Amino acid sequence: MLATANPDKAAEIAAILGEAVELVPRPAEVPDVEETGETLEDNARLKARALVEATGEAAVADDTGLEVEALGGAPGVYSARYAGEDATYLDNVNKLVQALEGAGDRRARFRTVAIACFPDGTEVLASGAVDGSIALAPRGAAGFGYDPVFVPDEGDGRTFAEMSPNEKHAVSHRGRAFRALARALSDR
Ligand code: IMP
Repeated sequence: MLATANPDKAAEIAAILGEAVELVPRPAEVPDVEETGETLEDNARLKARALVEATGEAAVADDTGLEVEALGGAPGVYSARYAGEDATYLDNVNKLVQALEGAGDRRARFRTVAIACFPDGTEVLASGAVDGSIALAPRGAAGFGYDPVFVPDEGDGRTFAEMSPNEKHAVSHRGRAFRALARALSDR
């Protein structure tokens, strides 16, 4: 069962895993958990464990952060709330572009921790990262979140939002984390 209620993330995870794992959406009556952890790993585990406890089913969750070098690794674990509690994707992108105005060092890294938690208390953990830089202004309409301003080092200068989903997943933090999770689950 997939813990995320974010349709953008759910679509990406389903596309990355393909046939490898059968994903069931989270039942509507199971509420969101507060992401009170101090690390991506803590938050991913909180989300998956809450779902295991509510349903008795094995659950998969992820947590992602954007770590910007010139901001000392911020927004990191607070990426969703960077511009405030109810911030939209656009609010966060705008705040980031402003924070880096005139910055020479625009390096950044997306990091995802993916976890599968089981009713017997065991878990399988995997992570993935992608290095890149923050564009001077947003470009592209695909993807979600900070995609319009993230230019992966392994690309051709386009932002994630200017790539097809498959181009993004081939190098992305989430692609790497969930492919590693699928491999670890099949070895289990
Ligand atoms: P979450 O806490 O894992 O839901 O993610 C934190 C925030 O990071 C999200 O609200 C998005 O704004 C951003 N984010 C997560 N994954 C991606 C991605 O693949 N591309 C761009 N932004 C992302």
